[in-house]
Amino acid sequence: NPNRQDKDKETNVQVLLRCRPLSEDELRLNIPSMVSCSEYKREVTVTQTLANKQIDRVFAFDKVFGPKAQQRSIYDQAIAPIVNEVLDGFNCTIFAYGQTGTGKTYTMEGGMRNKGGDLPVEAGVIPRAVRQIFDMLEAQNADYTMKVTFLELYNEEITDLLAPEDNSRSVEEKQKKPPTLMEDGKGCVFVRGLEEESVYGVNEIYALLERGASKRRTADTLLNKRSSRSHSVLTITIYVKEAVIGGEELIKCGKLNLVDLAGSENILRSGAREGRAREAGEINKSLLTLGRVINALVEHSAHVPYRDSKLTRILRDSLGGKTKTCIIATISPSAYCLDETLSTLDYASRAK
Ligand code: ADP
Ligand code: MG
Repeated sequence: NPNRQDKDKETNVQVLLRCRPLSEDELRLNIPSMVSCSEYKREVTVTQTLANKQIDRVFAFDKVFGPKAQQRSIYDQAIAPIVNEVLDGFNCTIFAYGQTGTGKTYTMEGGMRNKGGDLPVEAGVIPRAVRQIFDMLEAQNADYTMKVTFLELYNEEITDLLAPEDNSRSVEEKQKKPPTLMEDGKGCVFVRGLEEESVYGVNEIYALLERGASKRRTADTLLNKRSSRSHSVLTITIYVKEAVIGGEELIKCGKLNLVDLAGSENILRSGAREGRAREAGEINKSLLTLGRVINALVEHSAHVPYRDSKLTRILRDSLGGKTKTCIIATISPSAYCLDETLSTLDYASRAK
């Protein structure tokens, strides 16, 4: 029974594809668009002309969002069900993967303007997820706490994006060790020494995103383009008090990781020159390993190489098993980005 087999092969990994619109600059320069999206057929077609022949390449995904797709519709169709799982006590992870400039940060964070009250139309996945979590827990009259950590991974080193600025740190804080990855006897991995902030509303999440963004901007001036080569991981942990039994509180805990990955152009490619290849390889050990981990999960391999990079170690309890994983691959329609677009489409469609 082929259906049965499909069922057995079912994975908890979902891959979405989002194509951004041409920018105003690209439109002014008349740069042609090479990409067409069919949301209905869940397909992306890239049209190339080679030696006067038109060649179409078609890629299929779980969901496809074309240049006109609104932030809200992506959230409602693809992300809201995952956040429901988190509220049921599961750990889930959402990744944005793609070339720099294709809309990873726009998709995850969105337009950074919130004047209180309603979410802006341009709000991305993170503020929408926080809003959904609050709305649902408030409606249930739940007794809950929401905590957020926000870290950056660059060259396999962890930086705390919520750590206080140097000039406002106390002596004690300055002596604090940088965040480190720790493993307990049971193989459970956690990051020690991260600032953990309680969040009470959507406005606070905007303040935390802004704090992280300003830290990343500072780092950018120190080392050119660092932010496009680093991963950022925002983790929301929700604790809900379920009951009190014999004086002991029963807590349900769910975790949502929202990951803005390094630009996929940094991934190691054959043909890169030796020195640069080594640099790219080291910087993006995490990006490469993530691809292997996802493939192993999708293929139900016995061995999943979590241990091979920091990113996959950090996310280990939220990747695989019963957890839900969603990869949002982002591309540009521009003819100038064709090579990177094809490689993103290849990477992302292979993750299925
Ligand atoms: P990345 O994080 O992948 O480097 P950004 O999210 O910074 O890319 O997006 C690059 C630019 O394109 C930004 O100015 C952003 O506002 C714009 N942009 C990206 N995706 C969209 C979209 N779907 N609709 C409108 N503008 C977008
Ligand atoms: Mg970005």
